[in-house]
Amino acid sequence: MSIPFQVLATTCYGSPVISQESIERVKSEASIVEVVSETVKLRRAGMYYSGLCPFHSERSPSFFVRESSNSYHCYGCSASGNVISFVMASRAMTFPEAVEFLAGRFGIELKRDNSRRGQGPSVDREKLFAVCATAQNFFRQSLMQVKKGAGEFAKVGEYLRKRGLTADAINTFGIGYAPNQRGALAETLKKAGFSEELIIQSGLARRASGGELYDFFRGRLIFPIFLDVKRIAGFGGRIVPGVNDPAFEQQAPKYLNSPETPIYQKNRTLYGLPQAMSAIREAGEAYIVEGYMDVVGLAMRGVNNVVACCGTAMTEQHLKRFSGLCSRVHLLFDGDTAGRGAAAKSFVSARNADVDVTACFLPDDVDPDDFASQHGAETPHALKGVQKSELIDTYIDWLLTRAGCSVTEKPGANLLGKLSEEVAKALSGVEREVVRSTLTARAARRLGIETPQLERLVAKGSSGSAQSAGKEPAKARSSESKQDSAEGIAASPQQARGAAELPRVDLDMLRSLMVLKGEVIPDLLRNPEMCEILQPETVSFAMDLGQALADHPDDEQGQRQAAKELLQTLGPDWTRLWKEAFKMVEAGVSMRDLYRESLLALRRQKLRGLLDECKEELVSGEGDSQRQLEISERIRILKNQIDGLARGVDLQSSNS
Ligand SMILES: [Zn+2]
Repeated sequence: MSIPFQVLATTCYGSPVISQESIERVKSEASIVEVVSETVKLRRAGMYYSGLCPFHSERSPSFFVRESSNSYHCYGCSASGNVISFVMASRAMTFPEAVEFLAGRFGIELKRDNSRRGQGPSVDREKLFAVCATAQNFFRQSLMQVKKGAGEFAKVGEYLRKRGLTADAINTFGIGYAPNQRGALAETLKKAGFSEELIIQSGLARRASGGELYDFFRGRLIFPIFLDVKRIAGFGGRIVPGVNDPAFEQQAPKYLNSPETPIYQKNRTLYGLPQAMSAIREAGEAYIVEGYMDVVGLAMRGVNNVVACCGTAMTEQHLKRFSGLCSRVHLLFDGDTAGRGAAAKSFVSARNADVDVTACFLPDDVDPDDFASQHGAETPHALKGVQKSELIDTYIDWLLTRAGCSVTEKPGANLLGKLSEEVAKALSGVEREVVRSTLTARAARRLGIETPQLERLVAKGSSGSAQSAGKEPAKARSSESKQDSAEGIAASPQQARGAAELPRVDLDMLRSLMVLKGEVIPDLLRNPEMCEILQPETVSFAMDLGQALADHPDDEQGQRQAAKELLQTLGPDWTRLWKEAFKMVEAGVSMRDLYRESLLALRRQKLRGLLDECKEELVSGEGDSQRQLEISERIRILKNQIDGLARGVDLQSSNS
């Protein structure tokens, strides 16, 4: 497989997969008016609510929400969909994430299909969220005791004052305190009715050799890591000086994070994102820092579009969180060697991101929190003045420094050769052509070589590496198809879900998913419009396949087996479809084209549906004359869009 399947984990961060029935419940029970109202000021207008569109900028409202059908659409930019697609689009979530978010918000119990696949231990995610919520209460209560100021709490109060933490910031970020006691939290959780197993699974306590539980966080200031406005997935803790035994304090890490759990995955969770969401959208850019105190410190001085990666380097999945939210992300790190190295290494994670990523270094030994306290209210301004460099430049500078060559010095021929190859290798993994050529030209300048030279190296790198997937799908895939085809899959007769009964466009989509897998599934599950219009069986299949593959990262054998098992549980219809898909590949059909065409066809289908709705409304004579005019205009725009799409499709099919 050419694309690492960890990528898929972004799409499906919970296992096992959410049941169809639950998805339907969320669609009908989560109030779209309530959800939209969080970000858009809505006014009732007849059978609709209207407001300023959150997806394009406008002065008079052309965004309409219809409560009766739990749907929305915008006359200005054509955004439209249901409550799930709204959450996906406005919060940059994947389909399963949006479903979970809404279920959490509206107290809808999500049923999960354990039966379909896998025999791994079943995890009750809702219960883990409940453990975290209870722990959060406990940490907050403990921090209240600081007011009394006795014993260890006096030290905590001293530390809070020293760091200048305001009550406002403490509330916004839900900061708490874990007292320096061995099992105070574990006791509280047990009293609240949680089992010891669950408490251990949450990472908040461990079992001592004597059998009793002891707390994971002790004598630390606690920063809850929110997944969304409500749910906490894990915690970060900073040691409070003077609270612990001095010998212990010396050895203990300054910062400590909850271990990974079924609800907390470090490589895709960003600390502070729910709090920063609206500021990021407004600013059109975001800062990524390294620590929670950096986030809080900057927020206290008016820079609110900041998040942190906690306890891990920045990953591709982290950056995906910004797609749809903003177009630029700055890595704001210390200017020391470690900070520069961290930023440089993230070039590889950032090269295929939807956003432009730059590196932004503070003067040596100053972290963003220090920077914020130095500049006070001037911080937003001061931050703008810090120089930002392209990540490719930072990457090359770092390679130079690592090789013992100063940035200003010209490297010798041998070193230059090696560096160019290394840079070319990284560049060959850039998927989009324009991005690749732009970065290549820039890198060539930085290295001091001719662009065509580097281009040749990049081309060599991409033909030699499996990273080039997607450029020549039909050819590149034909060899893979043999080993990966469904030969030998014994279809079981039970539980057929009737793939044969699905619309043709869904079948095409499914065939392309079966072949392209990780190359398209994450994107598809991030596309609100498509998730809304595809048949639920198709979306479920994408989620299932994505999950099956994500369950076996870096293990092709395991992935193939998981895919087989999935097909077996779905029934013969699906196995047949899978075989057909790989026959098409062997016959030279480009599955990328098929995928693209399916997207276009679905889009057309959706626009036609909207057109019918508008015509119906016009005929019904509802609304005032202004409204009638708007609908007529809307009909005109929709017709144009449908025509345009039709031309796009014709062009494509005559090309291929
Ligand atoms: Zn709009």
